[in-house]
Amino acid sequence: MTEVAEAPVAARSGELKRISHWIGGRIVEGTSGRSGPVYDPAKGIQAAEVDFASVEEIDRAVQAAQAAFPAWRAMSLSRRTELFFRIRALVDEHREDIAKLLTAEHGKVLSDAMGEVARGLEVIEYCCGIPELLKGEFSEQASTGIDVYSIRQPLGVIGGITPFNFPAMVPMWMWAPAIACGNTFVLKPSEKDPSASVYTGELLNEAGLPDGVFNVVHGDKVAVDRILEHPDVSAVSFVGSTPIAKYVYETGTSRGKRIQALGGAKNHMVVLPDADLDMAADAAVSAAYGSAGERCMAVSVVVALESVADELVGKIKERLPNVKIGPGLEPDSEMGPLITRQHRDKVASYIDSASEQGAEVVADGRALKVDGDGFFLGVSLIDNVTPEMDCYRDEIFGPVLSVVRAKTYDEAVKLVNDNPYGNGVAIFTRDGGAAREFEFGVDAGMVGVNVPIPVPVAYYSFGGWKSSLFGDSHIYGPEGIHFYTRGKVVTRRWPDPATSTIDLGFPQTR
Ligand code: NAD
Repeated sequence: MTEVAEAPVAARSGELKRISHWIGGRIVEGTSGRSGPVYDPAKGIQAAEVDFASVEEIDRAVQAAQAAFPAWRAMSLSRRTELFFRIRALVDEHREDIAKLLTAEHGKVLSDAMGEVARGLEVIEYCCGIPELLKGEFSEQASTGIDVYSIRQPLGVIGGITPFNFPAMVPMWMWAPAIACGNTFVLKPSEKDPSASVYTGELLNEAGLPDGVFNVVHGDKVAVDRILEHPDVSAVSFVGSTPIAKYVYETGTSRGKRIQALGGAKNHMVVLPDADLDMAADAAVSAAYGSAGERCMAVSVVVALESVADELVGKIKERLPNVKIGPGLEPDSEMGPLITRQHRDKVASYIDSASEQGAEVVADGRALKVDGDGFFLGVSLIDNVTPEMDCYRDEIFGPVLSVVRAKTYDEAVKLVNDNPYGNGVAIFTRDGGAAREFEFGVDAGMVGVNVPIPVPVAYYSFGGWKSSLFGDSHIYGPEGIHFYTRGKVVTRRWPDPATSTIDLGFPQTR
């Protein structure tokens, strides 16, 4: 195994690393002449240049995946399982190497990056049980002398298009179940932090995955559009922002592909008067500012019932000076920088607009000073936010927490349900009846009861409602296995002269 620092790099141009594609089991340098910058967000400098694929390069990756498919789908379940256990062991062994790549390019602190890898690893572990997951059903003697059974078969070449905020875990949500089911895979990771994907290619190769089963192509819209139109790509999993998710869903389905496209979010945390307010304040701070708010399950709105709103805002505010902000590799950093300067400035603009539109900026992250030129922004808390304000309407995707005050429980739930997004939601209360009513009536795909970031464990499936998901299938878990396979039902009998007759009527059971 090559050293991590070298793993995703095909060559060096000047001081900049060059990050290239992974096709057919090896690094393939891009020839399109197009590329993009990859930054070290903690320093605010460009650290690498990533090749952007042309249509021909996407075709080459799809061809490699298509060529690998027949042998891969024919590999026995027991051999595939054995290989998945090896993959599991290698990813486990290299957890920290992967996490360091994430911290270097994304900026998240190392402990958070380790957590990302751990949650992705759980999906790989789930896939180690693939023989159990692919078991079909069998009905003996469905009709006289006839048995019926169902099987699930792989689709072929699957495309995966992933966002910048989880450069290892979200790809694992896709490639692990897709490959375990017998498909081959072409991943187009975010161009902002692409190294972990190429490193994954190397680990899978070392585990013994046949060449061409897993491929990585970097790039932008050119790459995405070719994946969506390529006739040999059967299905595409997408995770990213809502406008692109909608585009991917509409474009892919119009070309007859199976698509699951997970979009953006605006996650609310409803705090009832009987909640443990210290627990709620701890949860709000962790869920709003962890990973600098660049999580699709981050809490971005606290909906506080009026009788406890002042006390809750006070408790959140008093915790903020303790959040340690700094470069992700420094051991005591709890929150790192944002992904790019442009994104940092955009997030900061929501604090400007909030005060212009009449909200109260209780804590202002724009005041933060960190040595150097990194893309840092401090934690911000905005109170008395109303639904018309930009900071409520848009997904900010940064360390900005809004507080909306609600007079009643019904008003709080209506606010959540009127929001166009429906990814995660949480309620903080000691009242079991209220929590049950909430989970029954709230329009969101993932609900937390006193749990602010209710990301389902690997043996359930992850996904939102409304504008947070386009398509029918949630990702990983049982729905992932379903998405990456198609059903076939066999109706079977064996020659028996006693039951063989000519009958031109519609087949009936007897
Ligand atoms: P993004 O939509 O900008 O990019 C996602 C992918 O789409 C990337 O690979 C990118 O290269 C590609 N892409 C970007 N613009 C495109 C275009 N015009 N045409 C075709 N492809 C294009 O998202 P991002 O900024 O990388 O990630 C943050 C977003 O992802 C947030 O909205 C966040 O909520 C969302 N997200 C959602 C989930 C979820 O599970 N629902 C999980 C993680 C992130």
